[in-house]
Amino acid sequence: NKYGVNELRKMFLDFFESKGHLVMKSFSLVPHNDNSLLLINSGMAPLKPYFTGQEIPPRKRVTTCQKCIRTGDIENIGKTDRHGTFFEMLGNFSFGDYFKHEAIAWCWEFLTEVVGLDPDRLYPSVYLDDDEAFDIWNKEIGIPAERIFHFGKEDNFWEHGSGPCGPCSEVYYDRGEKYGCGKPGCTVGCECDRYIEVWNNVFTQFDNDGHGNYTELDQKNIDTGMGLERLAAVVQDVDSIFDVDTIQALRNRVCELAGKTYKENHDWDVSIRIVTDHIRSATFMISDGIMPSNEGRGYVLRRIIRRAARHGRLLGIKGDFLANLSHTVIEGSKDGYPELEEKKDFIFNVLTQEESKFNKTIDQGLSILSDMEDTMMKEGKTQLSGEDAFRLYDTYGFPLDLTKEILEEKNLTIDEDGFQAAMKEQKEKARAARKVTNYMGADVTVYESLDPAISSEFVGYDKLVWESEV
Ligand code: ATP
Ligand code: MG
Ligand code: MG
Ligand code: MG
Repeated sequence: NKYGVNELRKMFLDFFESKGHLVMKSFSLVPHNDNSLLLINSGMAPLKPYFTGQEIPPRKRVTTCQKCIRTGDIENIGKTDRHGTFFEMLGNFSFGDYFKHEAIAWCWEFLTEVVGLDPDRLYPSVYLDDDEAFDIWNKEIGIPAERIFHFGKEDNFWEHGSGPCGPCSEVYYDRGEKYGCGKPGCTVGCECDRYIEVWNNVFTQFDNDGHGNYTELDQKNIDTGMGLERLAAVVQDVDSIFDVDTIQALRNRVCELAGKTYKENHDWDVSIRIVTDHIRSATFMISDGIMPSNEGRGYVLRRIIRRAARHGRLLGIKGDFLANLSHTVIEGSKDGYPELEEKKDFIFNVLTQEESKFNKTIDQGLSILSDMEDTMMKEGKTQLSGEDAFRLYDTYGFPLDLTKEILEEKNLTIDEDGFQAAMKEQKEKARAARKVTNYMGADVTVYESLDPAISSEFVGYDKLVWESEV
C-alpha cells in the first residue's frame, strides 16, 4: 500500500468523522488568545479552551490535522529520520466524552485496518502504573504483555505545570534492523530511528493542584497526536520523512537547483534536508501572516529563512531560490491548505525580499567571520567575542544561532553573554538617541533601517488576516 500524504490526511479525518467526530480545519500557526506559546506546536494547543472548560466545543468529539512548528527540534533536522521543524499533526479529541477504551481501539483499527500496517511491527507503551490502558491493549486488543512497554513520567505522562494532566500511551513501529543503532538493548524507546514513535494518546484524567496532588477529573478527555509525515514514512516504507511523496518532490527540487544527488555525501544530505524542511516552515508561517522581523515569531521566521539561505549556499545554489522552492511546497500541500494557493504571490514576495536582503550581506559576513576565525586560531582562542558576534548580527544580519552553528562546525564557540551585553548596550544607545531626535517612538534596528517598509507591512497584513478570520 502506497497511500500518499494527502490521501492519508483525508483517510484519518474521514475515519474519525465516521466515529462521530466533527472535522475542523487546521488552526493558524499563530496562537489565538494564548501568550504562553509563540507558535502552535500540537493539535491540542489551539483546543486548550475546550479542554479547560473555558469555552464550549462545537461537538464533544473533534478531529483535526493541525499545522505545527517545533523550533526545539531544529537541531534534529538532518540528524534523525523523524523530525521536522514543520509538520502536520493528526488528532482525535474527546471533551468529556469517550475515554481510553474507544481511543485505543480506534487507534489500533486505524493503523492496522485502515492503512494496513503490520500488527506484528507495532508496539504500544503505557505509563508505569496505568493498568487500565495496559489491560485494554492486552485483553481487549490482544497484544501479548511482553510487547507492551512501560515508561515513566518523562515519556508517558503529559503535564504542563498545574491543571489537567494524565498518562499517555504511545504506539511505536519497528522499521526493521537496517534502521537500528545496533547497540545492545536497542528496543522500543531507543533514541535511534528503528522503533519510530508514531502516535501519542494522552488521557487527561487528573488535575494537578500545583503541589503534586492529583485528583481525578469529573470530565475526562482524550487528546491524541500523530505526525502525518511519520505515518506516511512507515506506510510508504521509506527511509525518512524526507522520502515521503510530497516532501520527496520538494527534496528533489532542492537537489536539482543545487546540481547534487541525494545520498552521495553526508554533509550535503544534511543541508538538503535543512533546506527542504525550512522552506516548508517558512511557507506555512508566511501564509499565516507571520513576517520576518527581529522579535518573537518574526525572528523565528527570519532565522529559519536565513539558515535555509546559508545551507543553500553550502550546496552551491546561486542567487535567490526560496520562492522557487516554495512553489513546490504549495503544489504539494494546497490540497489540505487551499490558503497557500490564495496567498502564493504574497508568500513569494516576502521570501524574495528577505532572502535578497540577506544575500546582499551574507558573502561579506561569511568572509569577515572567516577572518575572525583566523585571528582566533592565531591567538589560540576557541571562543568568538560577544562584540564580534554582535557585529555580524547587527551589520551583516547573522542571527546568533547561525554564527554559532558555523563556528560549531569547527569546534569553536561564542561568548553568548557578551553578545547579549553588546545587544543591550546598542539598544540603550538607540533609546538615548531617540530621546534626542524623537524618532516617532519607533524601535530602530539594522533590519528596519535596511528596509523601513517591513514593520508597517507586517501590521497591515496581520490585521487583514485576523479580520478575515473573525
Ligand atoms: P519524539 O520523541 O520523536 O521527538 P515527541 O514525543 O516529542 O516525538 P509528541 O509530543 O508526543 O512527540 O507529539 C505527537 C506526535 O507528533 C509524535 O508521536 C510524532 O508522530 C509527531 N511529531 C512530534 N514531533 C515531530 C517533529 N518534529 N516532526 C514530525 N513529527 C513529529
Ligand atoms: Mg520530541
Ligand atoms: Mg517521544
Ligand atoms: Mg511523544
